[in-house]
Amino acid sequence: MTTRVSRLQASLAEKNVDAIIISNPENRRYITGFTGSAGSPIITGDRALFFTDFRYVDQAKQQCPGFEVRKHTHPETEVWAEALREMGVKRLGFEKQAVYFSGYEDMRDSLGVELVPLGNIVGELREVKDDDELDAIRKAVRLADDAFNHILTFIKPGLTETDVALELEFYMRRAGAEGLSFGIIVASGQRSALPHGRASARVLEEGDLVTMDFGCVVDGYCSDLTRTIGLGTLDRRQQKIYDIVLESQRRALAGLRPGMTGIEGDALAREYIAEKGYGDDFGHGLGHGVGLAVHEGPSLSTRNKKALVPGNVVTVEPGIYISGWGGVRIEDMVVVTEDGIENMTGAPKELIIL
Ligand code: ZN
Ligand code: ZN
Repeated sequence: MTTRVSRLQASLAEKNVDAIIISNPENRRYITGFTGSAGSPIITGDRALFFTDFRYVDQAKQQCPGFEVRKHTHPETEVWAEALREMGVKRLGFEKQAVYFSGYEDMRDSLGVELVPLGNIVGELREVKDDDELDAIRKAVRLADDAFNHILTFIKPGLTETDVALELEFYMRRAGAEGLSFGIIVASGQRSALPHGRASARVLEEGDLVTMDFGCVVDGYCSDLTRTIGLGTLDRRQQKIYDIVLESQRRALAGLRPGMTGIEGDALAREYIAEKGYGDDFGHGLGHGVGLAVHEGPSLSTRNKKALVPGNVVTVEPGIYISGWGGVRIEDMVVVTEDGIENMTGAPKELIIL
């Protein structure tokens, strides 16, 4: 049995369940190694089964060492019910954040076991990355860095935000990315006040701040990078806001270390921004975990009381957003080490004006 499966099995007794069924796709991949799009692992204290349909049976046999692969037809719950009976499962844990209500109803009506809602226990295991995971993340980060350096030679007034987003995407895909971490954000001029402003038909102009937030997927793992640049000439206020965001990020990068809670990590940047008078304009957390999903645990936010540990991978992305004016965000990805962090991101971040 793989270490990941053993660690999950060890937590079943603690959760007072005989088995767990995994529904979240990233959790499924993490626990089994399966990269396909349909399949349901059921793990008991000493067994690991993987149910999938005929399209994926061979793939699952190759990708899921230690799992007994079983083919299901429809309804799949009939095959699960039979296996649960055979294994003597009475209490089955399920991922309450990953199951649709209709899926819950199907399980309730046909499995003949007690269903126990569980939080994201596999997601918690995923918060600490191993070396293979870090390698994949580094590759994805490097590709995003390269794409940023490339876009500096491409971006100019007269292009639309969509032109810029497409160029970023083509660059990363050509360089080997499997896909994008999320729909690319290019937010220029007043739109840069939108923290998640998807690229639009707006035409870039001299004097714009342009925020680009993007990332790609390599070996299943995501990267996430934000840079804000200026076009033409920037006024003093634009430069001042940029300097505040940059300095707040520098402070966070210098201060982050294991043992610190997500709240304390967040405060490293938040207190400085508030001191400068822009506390109300930094409306999101300082960072989030990144891995198989682009948003996962742990978060650096005013809500996360858990301590950071070595192997956590998080973003550090302070921002200031002023409605009707614009905004600035700068985002790096770091891995928590024994005594601080290693910044994986290499893209330049001194203010660039093109
Ligand atoms: Zn981002
Ligand atoms: Zn992010």
